[in-house]
Amino acid sequence: MITTLPARLRTLTLLVVLAVLAPQAGQAVAPPSPGFSGDRAFTQLKTLCDMGPRVPGSPAARKAGDWLLARLRACGDEVWEQPFTHVVSKKHPMAKGNPQWTSKGLGMRNIVCRFKPKATRRLLLAAHWDSRPFADMDPDKTKRSQAVLGANDAASGVAILLELARCLKAKAPGMGVDIVLFDGEDWGQQGHLEDYFLGSKAYARAMTRPLPEAGILLDMVGDRNLRLPMEPFSLQAAPDLMERLWSTAERLGYGHIFIREMGPGVQDDHLPIIQRGVPMVDLIDFDYPQWHTVRDTPAACSPASLDVVGKVVEALIRQGL
Ligand SMILES: [Zn+2]
Repeated sequence: MITTLPARLRTLTLLVVLAVLAPQAGQAVAPPSPGFSGDRAFTQLKTLCDMGPRVPGSPAARKAGDWLLARLRACGDEVWEQPFTHVVSKKHPMAKGNPQWTSKGLGMRNIVCRFKPKATRRLLLAAHWDSRPFADMDPDKTKRSQAVLGANDAASGVAILLELARCLKAKAPGMGVDIVLFDGEDWGQQGHLEDYFLGSKAYARAMTRPLPEAGILLDMVGDRNLRLPMEPFSLQAAPDLMERLWSTAERLGYGHIFIREMGPGVQDDHLPIIQRGVPMVDLIDFDYPQWHTVRDTPAACSPASLDVVGKVVEALIRQGL
């Protein structure tokens, strides 16, 4: 039809069509896709790791904590820090040179970001943001006193939660969502369980009603060769949520990553929350040779792995509990 029109009229028709399609003055151009992006999450992971190991009490941890707080303040409806103090054992390697930590205690902080704070049905999403002070599993003994960067353990989970927070700001969830970044998960020496999970213990103590209906912990979810078996304490405490997560993953085509095999039982931040009565699933790939070594760096992680886990959790939020 257009070919039969005179040239001037054809141009005019084209201009009219373009004018209809173009955004009107003062009208916003379509925003970028609100969906989860593993690439964006990976950028957050690298930014966090560029600040250095997030060892409690260190300048890098202060800088990283402030950065996380600012990132979440830009997204959440209510954002705050929950400070707490841990009195460090005189036998702890970090006690040398820091006598005030063994008397007055070492200050740490959880970072909390809430969406729809008044909603009574709530989902808790958590990851630990601290880094382990010593690489005690490093095959090279001379490196075991160095701090772990913690790209996978657990900047991976933190990066996913930052990207999810951006998605939830772009499109509000149907239920309440509490994103919590725990401090002091990895502070303990082997065999001293009382010095681990400090942030989740502090958060569990302070949780008020209505408690979240369920929780998901993201720990070591960025491994390049990601495989997530079912963690037994999670399966025992939250079988329904675990089934929903795994069936959601299968529906999205990620059944080769969320595998229906039993993994090792893991002592982790989910246990203090479960003990407070909130069923919580720990998504964790414990088959990670770089665990607690100086090689736990962004090079051992991948955007594709963050993408899978983030998309599954986002789908679960969108479909509702
Ligand atoms: Zn760890």
